[in-house]
Amino acid sequence: AKRMGRGNYQFFTPEMNAAASARLALEKALRRALDQREFELHYQPKVDVKSGQVLGMEALLRWRHPERGLVPPAEFIPLAEEIGLIGPIGAWVLETACRQNRDWQQQGLPKLRVAVNLSAVQFRQQNLPEFVAGVLKDVGLDASCLELEVTESVVMHNAKEAAQILEKLHAQGIHISIDDFGTGYSSLSYLKQFRLDTLKIDRSFVRDISSDADDAAIVRSVIALAHSLRLGVIAEGVETSEQLAFLESLDCDEYQGYLRSKPLSVPDFEAFLRDAIGA
Ligand code: C2E
Ligand code: CA
Ligand code: CA
Ligand code: CA
Repeated sequence: AKRMGRGNYQFFTPEMNAAASARLALEKALRRALDQREFELHYQPKVDVKSGQVLGMEALLRWRHPERGLVPPAEFIPLAEEIGLIGPIGAWVLETACRQNRDWQQQGLPKLRVAVNLSAVQFRQQNLPEFVAGVLKDVGLDASCLELEVTESVVMHNAKEAAQILEKLHAQGIHISIDDFGTGYSSLSYLKQFRLDTLKIDRSFVRDISSDADDAAIVRSVIALAHSLRLGVIAEGVETSEQLAFLESLDCDEYQGYLRSKPLSVPDFEAFLRDAIGA
């Protein structure tokens, strides 16, 4: 029985028991995954809207589960954050993405920027700027070839501290993007306090951009806002050439989406890159 306040007792229902044991099993499997190297990164290109040139790629985490196959991050990152496993997982992601990018450069592929997603917990971890600097140094990757994606809610929570962290990262030459821009219900005043490079327009605004006047207005405003603050702007979730044409008419700088490529495994992304540069 679970003890409630004021001496009340409430028994777990069978549903609660089932949910609790499923969670426990996932927790155990997740801890094993890190030891057994079951995680992998897939890469999705970031593309220049006007020229179609590939400018970089976002690293997206996948869990190759022995029975369940490829598990998307939404199914395990929230739990990993809760149980304190996002620290080691996030460190693995950062190192792996940086090392991969260095390898590609050593293989003679063009010098691109790799973007890594940072969770809230990771962003607040002690010495994040020093940790990132250490990884870049160990791996031997230029800071200008790393981009960190953080969401609005991550930086808005204790904005003063966030501003200092972003300043230290930016000072190293690392590129900073605000992910899922427009979904965070936050005030825009933070934009001028933070050292940022790019606003990333969330997929939810892009989806109906060519048919929904409100979405089009929002995207148009975000692009204008970004440019007036001298920031770059990238749209995510671009699936159709119609969406892309619309974004081009609004002067959006970059895009990401299935239209050009889904996130790809390392060998597939390599093949994609060689094809894109005509090698
Ligand atoms: P996000 O950072 O907003 O990433 C974009 C998501 O949209 C990715 O889902 C990507 O596969 C998907 N996507 C890209 N293009 C399209 C498109 O044209 N159409 C549609 N429908 N979807 C598209 P994914 O890979 O499942 O990742 C989901 C979220 O998990 C990410 O959202 C990010 O918040 C988180 N995530 C992924 N990798 C990491 C990581 O290494 N660390 C942390 N902390 N979070 C991660
Ligand atoms: Ca992202
Ligand atoms: Ca995101
Ligand atoms: Ca998003």
